[in-house]
Amino acid sequence: MHDDNLDWEADTLAVRAGGQRSAFGEHSEALYLTSSFVFRSAGEAARRFAGEDPGNIYGRFTNPTVTMMQDRLKALEGAEACVATASGMSAILATVMALLRAGEHVVASASLFGATVQLFQNVLGRFGLGTTFVPATDLAAYRAAMRPNTRMLFVETPSNPLTEIVDIAAVAEIAHAGGAWLAVDNCFCTPALQRPLAFGADIVIHSATKYLDGQGRVLGGAVLGSAELMSEVLGFLRTAGPSLSPFNAWVILKGMETLGLRMQAQSAAALQLARWLERQPRVERVYYPGLPSHPQFALAQRQQSAGGAIVSFEVRDGREAAWKLIDATRLLSITANLGDTKSTITHPASTTHGRISPEARAAAGISEGLLRVAVGLESIVDIERDLADSLS
Ligand SMILES: *Cc1c(COP(=O)(O)O)cnc(C)c1O
Repeated sequence: MHDDNLDWEADTLAVRAGGQRSAFGEHSEALYLTSSFVFRSAGEAARRFAGEDPGNIYGRFTNPTVTMMQDRLKALEGAEACVATASGMSAILATVMALLRAGEHVVASASLFGATVQLFQNVLGRFGLGTTFVPATDLAAYRAAMRPNTRMLFVETPSNPLTEIVDIAAVAEIAHAGGAWLAVDNCFCTPALQRPLAFGADIVIHSATKYLDGQGRVLGGAVLGSAELMSEVLGFLRTAGPSLSPFNAWVILKGMETLGLRMQAQSAAALQLARWLERQPRVERVYYPGLPSHPQFALAQRQQSAGGAIVSFEVRDGREAAWKLIDATRLLSITANLGDTKSTITHPASTTHGRISPEARAAAGISEGLLRVAVGLESIVDIERDLADSLS
């Protein structure tokens, strides 16, 4: 049995951290499909419930496979504690429900995942939590939006689909000056490319559905931060129930073993694709943090170890041309999902951002000709060929 060694490099942690072994001595981490756990005596049951004995009680609270997944992700993010959840959205919900209350206020980047915006605006708003949305990269706007009752700042970087980069250290400073926490949705980069806690963030949120699984199989999520904050989040989960299933935890646990390799390979392919797209006459503009033409190239270089796997670009002639290109692809999957080994293509203006008014969409820079590709693990030769055929 190994002890987790926090001096290990990330690639080692991804394979070894959090791996507990049962008395059978299995080499690969076991999947514990059980909803509850037995006690050896009435006294032990009482001690477990009283929190005096740290063992498992019930699947809504803890499960050994879920614990392994949490410990591995915790090691990769450099966090004190991790709480796994049923999905990325339940990670965000659990964080807010555990740490905030009615009458308090959140400052959020306007460039968030669509369901996250809906959650803050339409769901949490009904329960008396106020949210002010500010442009993702405008530090003065974050500062101006702060109120005495602001308890949390919430950002996503790089943003979807325009890959805007939020300066995590600068926004953390604004949050802390106002007595608030900074939460960062680290879904697009994963700890393989970016570790928000090292830049001063207090909370990291994941949709494990994306790159942590990495092969488009299961839903999952996680919240990371100090042991003190995460015990509150776990408390909400125990009570309210959006816990991660052991099967999904096992898939994500094993998915993380190849996270570093996948993120490096998919980022390298995305950079190559972005450079190639910049040379195509029918492409008006390319959005990718690894391109020197990106407005925050220098910040991205400081904050991320690679550009990530999401490339967006604008084609001439708006929606008609964009849809024609999508319909002509033979390799890329037409789906709004991302973080898979299979490359995907989507038209944000008519899908993920379709519910926003055309004016708000234009203000957010999401044009009718914009397309987003999430680069997978197919050969970049075939991806470029597919797009070249579709562009012509
Ligand atoms: C997908 C996604 C979510 C939501 O995650 P689910 O697992 O689908 O609930 C949250 N944030 C970002 C950035 C995402 O891409």
